[in-house]
Amino acid sequence: QSLNNYLDLKGNIRVFCRVRPFHHEEDHQSRTLFTLDENNVFLKVAETKIKQYKFDKVFNQCSTQGDVFAEVEPVIKSALDGYNVCIFAYGQTGSGKTYTMEGKPTDLGVIPRAIQALFDRTSESNRRFLFTFSMLEIYMGNLRDLLVPGNKTQGFKKVPSLSIKTDPDGGIEIENLVAVTVNSFQEVKRLYEVGTRFRSTASTMANSTSSRSHCLIRIALTSFDAPERKRARNKLWMIDLGGSERLVKTKATGKRLKEGKAINLSLSALGDVIDALQTKKSHVPYRNSELTQVLRDSIGCESKTLMLVHIRPNEDDLCETICTLGFATRVR
Ligand code: ADP
Ligand code: MG
Repeated sequence: QSLNNYLDLKGNIRVFCRVRPFHHEEDHQSRTLFTLDENNVFLKVAETKIKQYKFDKVFNQCSTQGDVFAEVEPVIKSALDGYNVCIFAYGQTGSGKTYTMEGKPTDLGVIPRAIQALFDRTSESNRRFLFTFSMLEIYMGNLRDLLVPGNKTQGFKKVPSLSIKTDPDGGIEIENLVAVTVNSFQEVKRLYEVGTRFRSTASTMANSTSSRSHCLIRIALTSFDAPERKRARNKLWMIDLGGSERLVKTKATGKRLKEGKAINLSLSALGDVIDALQTKKSHVPYRNSELTQVLRDSIGCESKTLMLVHIRPNEDDLCETICTLGFATRVR
C-alpha cells in the first residue's frame, strides 16, 4: 500500500455542507440566522447564543455546481482506484439535494458530472473498464428497480420488492437488480431518464412524492489490468435521500405518517452506522434499515463516504436546520 493510499484512508468519511440560495421571490423580506466560512456554519440559535458546526467544506449561496464537483471529484477518482464509494445528499425537502445531485440541464449536478468524469478518465487510462448502471428506489422499506422493463405500465404495487443477499466474502448483491452495461454518457443519460420517469409515475400511483423515498444510482465498475487479469469489482453509489424533515412539522397523518416514519427511521439508521464507524465501535448496526443493508459493503472499512448536507437559508427553517446540522455533527 502506498503512503498516499494510507493517508487517504484516514479520512474516508467526509461531510460537506451546502446552503441553498434564497429563491427570487423570497429575496427582499428574507433573513438568515447563520454566517459561513470555508469550514464552519455559525448559527444564531438564540438572541445571544451562536453555535459553531464544523465541516470538511462549506459551500455558500454563491457556490456553483462546478465548485461542488471540484471537491467531489477525488472520490470519483477513488472509485476508479477500486474503492467502494457512497455519495449522499441529505437535508429537508426543498434544501437542494436534487439540485446538487442531478442539477439542471444547463447546470449539471454531481451525478452527470461524475459519469462524465468516469468516461473521460478511463479513456486516458491504460486499464480497461466495464461500467454497469442501475437505479433503484427505497420506499417504505421496499427496494424497487427503476429500470425493469414494463414497470411503467404494470404500476407501482405490482413491482416486487428486491431482496438483498450477502455472499460469503461479505459482498452485497441485490437479487435481480437490472444492471445495464454502459459505454457513454449519452447511454447513461437515457437510462437515467427512464428511471426518473418510472419513479414519478410510480409515485403518483402510490400517492407519494419523491421526497418520501430514497433514490439510489449504482455504477458497478470492473477493471482489467491485462487482457486476462480481472480485478475485483467495486461500486460507486450516488444517493438522493428522502427529506429529513420531522413529522410534527408536516402534520402528516395516515399513509403520509407511515412514509415519513420509514424515511426518518432509515435516516437515523444511516446516522447510527456512520457514527459507529467514526467512533470505532465494535458493533456497526447495518441491519436496522434496508438502506444500510444495501450499502453494507460500501460504507466503512476501506470505503469512501461523502455526506453532502443541505440547509435552507430561511429564518423560518431554524428548527429543521438545527436538526440537520445535528445529524452532520454526529456523522463527522
Ligand atoms: P430537494 O431535492 O432537497 O427537495 P431541490 O433540489 O428540489 O430540493 O431544490 C428546491 C428548489 O431550489 C428547486 O427549485 C431548485 O432548483 C432550487 N435550488 C436548490 N439548490 C439550489 C442552488 N444551489 N442554486 C440554485 N437553485 C437551487
Ligand atoms: Mg429532491
